[in-house]
Amino acid sequence: EAKASGRNTYRYFNEAMNEAANETLVIELGLSKALELQQFELHYQPQIDLKTGKLIGAESLIRWRHPELGLISPSQFIPVAEEVGMIVAIGKWVLEEACRQVKIWHEMGFSDSVIGVNLSAVQFTSGNIEQTVRDALKQAGVSAKMIELELTESIILKDADNVLEKVHNLKQMGCRLSIDDFGTGYSSLAYLKRFAVNKLKIDQAFIKDMQHNQDDDVIVRTIIQMAHNLGLKTIAEGIEDPATLELLRSYHCDEAQGYFIARPMDQAAFYEYLSALE
Ligand code: C2E
Ligand code: MG
Ligand code: MG
Ligand code: MG
Repeated sequence: EAKASGRNTYRYFNEAMNEAANETLVIELGLSKALELQQFELHYQPQIDLKTGKLIGAESLIRWRHPELGLISPSQFIPVAEEVGMIVAIGKWVLEEACRQVKIWHEMGFSDSVIGVNLSAVQFTSGNIEQTVRDALKQAGVSAKMIELELTESIILKDADNVLEKVHNLKQMGCRLSIDDFGTGYSSLAYLKRFAVNKLKIDQAFIKDMQHNQDDDVIVRTIIQMAHNLGLKTIAEGIEDPATLELLRSYHCDEAQGYFIARPMDQAAFYEYLSALE
């Protein structure tokens, strides 16, 4: 009997593994067609100024509307897209769509709102990121200061001269730059200076428990102080309750983003959200 149940367990495990492998395969195969089939969409999560409570813009977050698997989150397909090189084409689409959207928000009366765009390290090592950004801006007729490019430490850590040069060129064009998920990787003060970013996005890992975890609280306060001393702004990600929001306000964190303020919304829902603010 032990043997039988062992075999069942094994078979169950095997099937689960097969299912996971299948899903990966489905993602890999489908990814190459997803762009031309227009299966990607951007969702938008509002960001507010903590002093005034006013909307400052939104971060764009990609989703893949798969015919069989439903809405697939970026963490499931972006790494695959990076591996197979598709991220360059997908990233180009994201930039174009983001520029078109922020143009519409401006036309709706939110003329100062900025759109956040996540960039992958691969977009810096293959493809011409400056040209892609320049073309997307020109095509949509928006100025560079209306987009905020979110860089990750994996981009910064490449630290190749040409990556640094590309980031500088984007800054020179007028794009705003932020460091996403700040505090998690090998954060170093040196690169903040070298890369001339405008803002640090404090990783949600520190925000989540800062009310109850003394270490997280100290880390968050230290990041805010350090950023301000360097002339940088801070935004906290992943705020899920009013107490955390108040705490961050009392620490003079500049901006906020999280489920407590608003969840990421599809285009139609975001337009409604904007309309309700007016
Ligand atoms: P990220 O840039 O750090 O984005 C923040 C993530 O936290 C988003 O997950 C967002 O939905 C989620 N989030 C926001 N507020 C809360 C909250 O209060 N609580 C919790 N638990 N989560 C919150 P999402 O949309 O699944 O995106 C995951 C990651 O995928 C992003 O992390 C980013 O690294 C990547 N990504 C998303 N869109 C793009 C894109 O267009 N291009 C690239 N290269 N990467 C992207
Ligand atoms: Mg981001
Ligand atoms: Mg982040
Ligand atoms: Mg993240």
